[in-house]
Amino acid sequence: MLSFFSGRHRQRDDLFDRSFRSCTDCGADVYVLAEDCKDCGTALELRAG
Ligand SMILES: [Zn+2]
Repeated sequence: MLSFFSGRHRQRDDLFDRSFRSCTDCGADVYVLAEDCKDCGTALELRAG
C-alpha cells in the first residue's frame, strides 16, 4: 500500500519536473511553455524535446 502511493507520488513529481526548466540567467524554475522567466524576465528559447 505504501509503495503504491509513493510510486504514484514519484511519477507525478517526475512529470512535474519535466514541465519546468532552469532560467539561464537567474536559475529560477520556468514553465517549459513560458517564453520568459517570471522572476527576472529573461527571454528563453523554446526547445523542442
Ligand atoms: Zn530568470
